[in-house]
Amino acid sequence: MTQSPHLTYDHDLDLLLENLETGQRPHLARSHQVFVNRDVHMDQIDAIGFDMDYTLALYRQEALDALSVEKTLERLVKVKNYAPSILSIKPNPSFAIRGLVIDKEEGNILKIDADRRVVKAFHGFKEVAQVDRHGYTRATLRSTKGRYHLIDTLFALPEAFLYAALIDHFEEQHGGLPVSYLQLFDDIRACIDLAHRDNSLKDAIMADLDGYIHRDPNLAATLHRLRSAGKRLFLMTNSRWRYTECVMRHLLDNQLDDYPSWRHYFDAIITAATKPTFFTGRRPFLKLDDQGIIVGQATDTLERGVFYQGGNLADFERLTGWGTERVLYVGDHIYGDILKSKKTSSWRSCMLVQEMAAELRHAHDIQPQLTRSHELEAELHRVNQQLHYEHHTLQRLNIALEEHNTTPLPQNTLKTLQNAIPTTRHRRDNLTRRRKEIVRVLLELDRTIEAHFNPYWGQIFKASNEHSIFASQVSLYADLYTSAVSNFLAYSPIQYFRAPKPLMPHELAL
Ligand code: IMP
Ligand code: MG
Repeated sequence: MTQSPHLTYDHDLDLLLENLETGQRPHLARSHQVFVNRDVHMDQIDAIGFDMDYTLALYRQEALDALSVEKTLERLVKVKNYAPSILSIKPNPSFAIRGLVIDKEEGNILKIDADRRVVKAFHGFKEVAQVDRHGYTRATLRSTKGRYHLIDTLFALPEAFLYAALIDHFEEQHGGLPVSYLQLFDDIRACIDLAHRDNSLKDAIMADLDGYIHRDPNLAATLHRLRSAGKRLFLMTNSRWRYTECVMRHLLDNQLDDYPSWRHYFDAIITAATKPTFFTGRRPFLKLDDQGIIVGQATDTLERGVFYQGGNLADFERLTGWGTERVLYVGDHIYGDILKSKKTSSWRSCMLVQEMAAELRHAHDIQPQLTRSHELEAELHRVNQQLHYEHHTLQRLNIALEEHNTTPLPQNTLKTLQNAIPTTRHRRDNLTRRRKEIVRVLLELDRTIEAHFNPYWGQIFKASNEHSIFASQVSLYADLYTSAVSNFLAYSPIQYFRAPKPLMPHELAL
C-alpha cells in the first residue's frame, strides 16, 4: 500500500491540537515506550546517529527468515555439497529468538540466564531434559572459547533454526545419519554469510521492498521533530551504498514537503562503516559520487548530502566536531552498535529491540495470569519463610524435651512444650501441602505464560525466573531501549529520560 504523502506530519499536528484540548499527557502503550537503564538528558544531546538495518528499517521477520533459509539451503547444496533433500526444509519463523546460544560441540541450542545457567535447551526440535542439561556448568559456559556462538541479531535467527532443522533432518528423518555438529554450524554460518555478501538476499529484498521492510508511517515525522529541535542527525550503517540508497528511499522519500529526498534528513551519511571496527580502526572516510563510485577522501569535514564509505570514530569526531558524550547512537546490534560504541567512546546508546513490541502486547493480553503468577511467587516466598520457622521450632521443641530427661523442666513448661508439638506439626503439614499446591499451579501457569510468548523459548528478556543473558546485556550496555525509532515521537526532543531508582534487595524489603 502506498503511503499518502504528508499524512504523518498532519497526523502529528492533529495530535498536538488534541493534546492541547485535553491538557493531558496521552496514555502511551508499553509497546510504544522508550525504556531507560541510565539517565539520558536529550537537551544535552547534539547529534543522534542511526543504524539502518533493523533500526530505521524494520524488517518483516517472517518474510526475511524464509528468504534467508531458502538462500542458505541453496548454498549448502551448491557450495558445501549437502544432499539436495535438505531443500525440502520449510522455514519456521517462530523457532528462534535473539539471545540464544549455539553449542557447536553438542549440537544443542541453549537459553541461558544472566547468571550463566542453562534454563532450556533443544537438540534438533527435541527439548533436552533437565537432567541432560547438568553437564553445562557456569564454568564451562564461561571458559570454553569458540564452542559457543551467540545469536545476537535478528539477521541470525535463521542460523539457529537451520541448525536445529538440519540436525533433525539428518538424525531423525534420515535414519540417524551422524552429524559433525561443529562442521554443520560453520557451514551454515559460511552459507548465510555468503548469501549476504553475494547480494542474493539484498537483490531479492530490493525487488520487493514492501514485502520485506515495514515502512513506519511516523518515521519521517520523528526525524523532523528531532531536527526541528536543533539535533544533528546522521546515518551510519554497515550496508553498502546501493542497498542503503534503495532502502532509505523506500523509508523516507515522498513523506514530508520540507524534505525533497531522504538524504535531507541527515547531516552525515556513512555507509559500509564496518562496525564494530569503526570504533577502533583507522579506515579513512571515502567520498562517493551519486553512482557509489569513490571520488576522494574526507579531509576537513563531512559534507551534508554526500555519501561516505568506511571511516572511523577518531576521524568522525575530528570532521564533525560533535562532542562524544553529546552523541546518542541508536542501533540494534548489541555488539557492533551498542557494546563497542559504549566501550570505545562516550557515545550514549539506545538499543532497538524490534521484537519487544509483540512481546509487550502479549504481556498485556496475558496480564491477569502474569499478576496471578507474581502473587503466587510472593505467597510462595512467605510460605517458605514460615515453613523454615516451623521446622526450626520443631527441632528446638525436640531438643528441649530431650534435655528434660537430664535436666527436668517445671511441669507446666513441660506441658506447654508437649502440646506445642502436634500443633506445630499440623501447621508444618498444612504449609507443606500449600507449598506443593502453589508450586504445581505456578509451574502450570508459567508454562501457559511462556507458551503465550514463544512456544519454544518463552520471553526474550526472561530465563525461568531470572533475567536472560540478552536482558542482562541490554541493561548493562544500552542507556535506552525501545521497539522502534518512531517511539521517540511521543517524547519531547529535550526529554529527560530518567532511569528508575535502582534498589538493592534489602531496600525492596523496606
Ligand atoms: P546495519 O545494521 O545497518 O549496520 O547493517 C547490517 C548489514 O550487515 C546489512 O547489510 C546486512 O545484510 C549485513 N549482514 C548481516 N549479517 C551478515 C552476515 O552474516 N554476513 C555479512 N553481512 C551481514
Ligand atoms: Mg542494524
